Amino acid sequence: MSNAINRRRFLQGSLAGAAAATVSLGKNTEAATFEGYPDAMGVLVDLSRCVGCRSCEAACNKEQKLPAPEKPFNDFSVFDEIHHGQKRRTDETRYTIVNRYDIPGREHPLFRKIQCNHCLEPACLTSCFVNAYTKTPEGAVIYDSTVCVGCRTCMVACPFYIPTFRYSSAFKPRIMKCVFCYDTRLTKGLPPACVESCPQEALTFGRRTDLVAAGKQRIRENPGTYVDHLYGEHEAGGTSWMYLSPAPFEQVGIDTTVPKEPILNYVKDFLSIVPMVLTIWPALFAGFHLLATRKDKMAEQKKNEGEV
Ligand code: SF4
Ligand code: SF4
Ligand code: SF4
Repeated sequence: MSNAINRRRFLQGSLAGAAAATVSLGKNTEAATFEGYPDAMGVLVDLSRCVGCRSCEAACNKEQKLPAPEKPFNDFSVFDEIHHGQKRRTDETRYTIVNRYDIPGREHPLFRKIQCNHCLEPACLTSCFVNAYTKTPEGAVIYDSTVCVGCRTCMVACPFYIPTFRYSSAFKPRIMKCVFCYDTRLTKGLPPACVESCPQEALTFGRRTDLVAAGKQRIRENPGTYVDHLYGEHEAGGTSWMYLSPAPFEQVGIDTTVPKEPILNYVKDFLSIVPMVLTIWPALFAGFHLLATRKDKMAEQKKNEGEV
């Protein structure tokens, strides 16, 4: 079986299937970047152009029918918010956020939009034993709440800390994250709402392969403007959303320690150390889920009986 087919199957397969498929990869191919679906789309985020207007946040909120934020989108005091020692992060009410970075020696701050990076070999997918995640040929990593049992393994697995859990509904598990506007736009060939709303053209939508070339060209043609690196070309095995930055990536809150290899390789290593996880983990969480949903149904039934 070819490496390409193994990888393709992995994107549709379960944790066990993925681990088994990967074991058959040759050692010298394990660390290679998977180019994924050749026509998959992506977004190039250029931090030199972003002015922190938050239009992208507002557009995402509207497109994804998310709840109204506590502070309006034209309130820029949010850039000063620190929670548990960290700047703002995506959560169940916001699939994307923009943060400000005041960098010593720079006249103006930089702003960075954060969302799911739609990895080519997503760790969220790899770690999910009920196949709640799918990497689509269009490039989006989407999620099926109907099969999710709420184990939250994907939250731990994601190297970018993106999936968040909807705590407001304990018995109906649901992970909330950017879906690349898959249903409403990507499948219709339209750019995501956030991209369309950006007045600065800081977000470029296109085929990922073209964006890699465009990003490198921008670096080449503007000497001194950017760090000579396209973040996401190889990180975590490659991502569909990639970043160009005028300042070192760690100064804009980007984790430069994310390995170049797909996180799948690390999951595989982990599984080889703890093989029992394959049998215990699914059973454990599926059991919890059944118990929780049964309790929920019984409570609902009792309530209905009381209403009759
Ligand atoms: S960034 Fe995280 S949630 Fe998004 S595809 Fe990658 S691993 Fe999954
Ligand atoms: S791609 Fe769609 S879901 Fe993702 S951040 Fe942009 S508007 Fe939101
Ligand atoms: S809309 Fe564009 S310029 Fe405004 S914050 Fe978002 S990415 Fe930056």
